[in-house]
Amino acid sequence: MSTTHSPADHPLLDSHEADVLRTVAAFTRDQVAPGAAERDSIEKGQLDWETVRAGHDVGLLRMAIPRELGGLGLSNLAVALVLEELAAADPGMALVFGATGLFQTPILISGDSRLQELYLPKFLGDEPVLACNAVAEELNGTDLVLPQNAPYAQKMTRATRSGSDFLINGTKRYITNAPVATYATVMANIDGEPGSTGMTCFVTDLEQDGVERGEIHDKVGYRTAPAGELIFTDARVPQENVLGGELGGWDLNVAIGNVTRVTCASVATGIARHSLERAVAWSGEREQGGRKLYEHQMSARKLADMAARVSASRALYLDAAVKADRILPTPAYEPAVAKLVADRAAIDNADAAMSLIGAQAFQRGDGMDRVLRDAYGPRIYEGSPEALALVITGELFGVSEVR
Ligand SMILES: Cc1cc2nc3c(=O)[nH]c(=O)nc-3n(C[C@H](O)[C@H](O)[C@H](O)COP(=O)(O)OP(=O)(O)OC[C@H]3O[C@@H](n4cnc5c(N)ncnc54)[C@H](O)[C@@H]3O)c2cc1C
Repeated sequence: MSTTHSPADHPLLDSHEADVLRTVAAFTRDQVAPGAAERDSIEKGQLDWETVRAGHDVGLLRMAIPRELGGLGLSNLAVALVLEELAAADPGMALVFGATGLFQTPILISGDSRLQELYLPKFLGDEPVLACNAVAEELNGTDLVLPQNAPYAQKMTRATRSGSDFLINGTKRYITNAPVATYATVMANIDGEPGSTGMTCFVTDLEQDGVERGEIHDKVGYRTAPAGELIFTDARVPQENVLGGELGGWDLNVAIGNVTRVTCASVATGIARHSLERAVAWSGEREQGGRKLYEHQMSARKLADMAARVSASRALYLDAAVKADRILPTPAYEPAVAKLVADRAAIDNADAAMSLIGAQAFQRGDGMDRVLRDAYGPRIYEGSPEALALVITGELFGVSEVR
């Protein structure tokens, strides 16, 4: 394909980041892509530690940690390009590394040097250490994503003071990496009523008394990334592990979401790109009606639309990434728009590839069934299209309370 994306060539990457991108592209081609089909049928809760260890060796668990602290020190732009690359081969693998980054992001953006010195080095050892960001619950999904939903949350996980500590009680659900993570940022309500208005972020060790791994989820997509419940029963967390201040959880949550939507959009772009690459390869070989499929005008239109969706999604997430790198706090508008467009592109391109490839794509073992299932993941987490619409409209009208 003459438009093949070469992430290391992006002009805004410095030479160190371009080297990292080249290494990631080779790692993805040689070690992630070959095992993607096998991981799609992995037992729920299991993890391909061998590939994760290889990813750790090239730095994927320390991407955003500053170089002076031993990390790769990548910009948001470079992290987003890395995750697109991984997602084009296996979006579940992008999530395993991305969810660990999601634990590190609030620690990095909070500027809390004590927690940075305490927790970031844990990701720099010889063995891979995974983490997660635990927000969602059975009764509270979008009610913990959109501030305007906050008063309506029900029975949110609570944190109550006990001397100089907090005791956390409640259950988190649908948490990527929960079955295999060692650390979590946990959103709990300290004394805020109604709903989730008292949300506060706790940096929490998961291998301690009072923390259990609950149900392991049997997801239809992203099977490479294990997910499950975390059950907290009087789990003790020191007051110093509060991130962003007591009652500061919503501000932090919004800040995390604005950064994370950039990479969610890049993961969705990777999924859309995979469908495009499959469709181009197929349409360049397959002949019907005496000519290659791409030579039929209606198929050409489909391919052009697919390519345009990938390019538009990429352009939008890169624009959002540049803003996230240069403007503090990260703006809400660009990441929300990027994610809205890329989430749709992942679904529409999977649909178009199914149509172009036909019966072959409908066979188990072809791989397009995995892409179809994966394509519906991005629009669920970190802001559904409806939630993003409220964020975008709020920005358009300069108000924070569009409901
Ligand atoms: C692959 C995957 C990975 C995930 N990883 C994590 C993770 O690592 N950590 C974590 O905390 N969570 C994670 N989640 C969970 C995710 O955060 C929640 O699924 C998400 O917040 C939505 O919650 P819900 O699924 O309960 O849907 P609900 O919130 O119940 O929403 C259902 C529908 O109602 C709509 N809706 C809700 N409120 C409004 C409103 N105000 N206006 C209009 N429409 C509205 C939504 O748009 C949606 O269409 C993950 C989910 C998936 C699928």
